[in-house]
Amino acid sequence: MKTEYVRLDPQHPDPEVIRRAGDILKNGGLVAFPTETVYGLGGDALNVEASGRIYAAKGRPSNNPLIVHIADMEHLPTIVTEIPEKAFALANVWWPGPLTMVFNKRDIVPDTTSGGLSTVAVRMPNHPVALELIRAAGGYIAAPSANTSGRPSPTLAEHVREDLDGKIDMILDAGEVRIGLESTIVDFTDEVPMLLRPGYINMEKLEEVLGEVLVDPALSGGNADGNMRPKAPGMMYRHYAPKAELTIVEGDEAAVVEKILELAANARKAGKTVGILAADETAGAYSDYRVRDIGSRRTDKEIARGLFKALREFDRDGVDVILSESFETPRMGGAIMNRLLKAAGNRVISARGDGPFGPKNFDPKGPSPRAVYNEP
Ligand code: AMP
Ligand code: MG
Repeated sequence: MKTEYVRLDPQHPDPEVIRRAGDILKNGGLVAFPTETVYGLGGDALNVEASGRIYAAKGRPSNNPLIVHIADMEHLPTIVTEIPEKAFALANVWWPGPLTMVFNKRDIVPDTTSGGLSTVAVRMPNHPVALELIRAAGGYIAAPSANTSGRPSPTLAEHVREDLDGKIDMILDAGEVRIGLESTIVDFTDEVPMLLRPGYINMEKLEEVLGEVLVDPALSGGNADGNMRPKAPGMMYRHYAPKAELTIVEGDEAAVVEKILELAANARKAGKTVGILAADETAGAYSDYRVRDIGSRRTDKEIARGLFKALREFDRDGVDVILSESFETPRMGGAIMNRLLKAAGNRVISARGDGPFGPKNFDPKGPSPRAVYNEP
């Protein structure tokens, strides 16, 4: 299949292009498009075949459900059975925006879209191209991130092309995304809302609107019975992974720098090419190596936006080993570390060497020992 690639003005997309892309979707085809979080791979959410094609193009397990994207609030009751007051309140503040809410679904949503679940995840993205496209496609676009399953999510149309060229009908390129991490997912199917995936909207922001919010125990290593099964099936899978072996080093700033330099020197001695992922404040210490400075800890927006891109760039450079600082920033640290830990397959080394995350005690198959969600 030939994939058509079209550049668009992010604020004022050409209506003719949007109409054509909408027609492709209405006919069961696939179109990748920008949102404010990451690029999405869109298909008609109410069309069984289209959602089947999404799984095939991404190589995604078919029990990992898709998020349905809508552009207008009046479309929500068509696909979900019940909308609690609190969900309306959250939508009021955060839609359109980086928020996905899970509800009980209506039969009109095919089981392929919901990965066989009786619930459906819904989001209203905050991007003119996405909103126009959803309307042109008839109102409901199922769209997971537009990457090959397991690879870092795409923050540029170029990343989509790397993974999906020849497998989908069209890619709409409106430049780099603003946020760079996938949406915050909140489940509303139980009495008390529950955070299933951390994102740009952190716990503090959720609690401002919702009051009590539970956190899926799977995010911090399982519940008291040792049940690790996350409510968002996608959180189970190894994800975002670069080709190189990625290790996170955590601890005090100075100790982290020292440990990374030691590990890097050892790897180099063993004949390996080393890439280092660092924040602005410390990147200068690694000038002997291929270092990617992804932004300041003070304004973690750059770190969030640059993370997936940096992982892909290391792949392109062909490094064998990536050593990363940890980024436990106050605002988005929970979401950033959630993605980074997954990308690293939970490989974390303590800069102090023998702490709970030290190599001696570290079980690579075990759950992350860290409470992944650690917003203040
Ligand atoms: P992606 O769009 O690639 O970021 O993946 C969508 C995420 O939403 C995955 O982690 C899914 O498991 C999750 N998700 C989608 N639908 C549901 C649902 N009905 N209940 C819980 N999680 C969901
Ligand atoms: Mg994804």
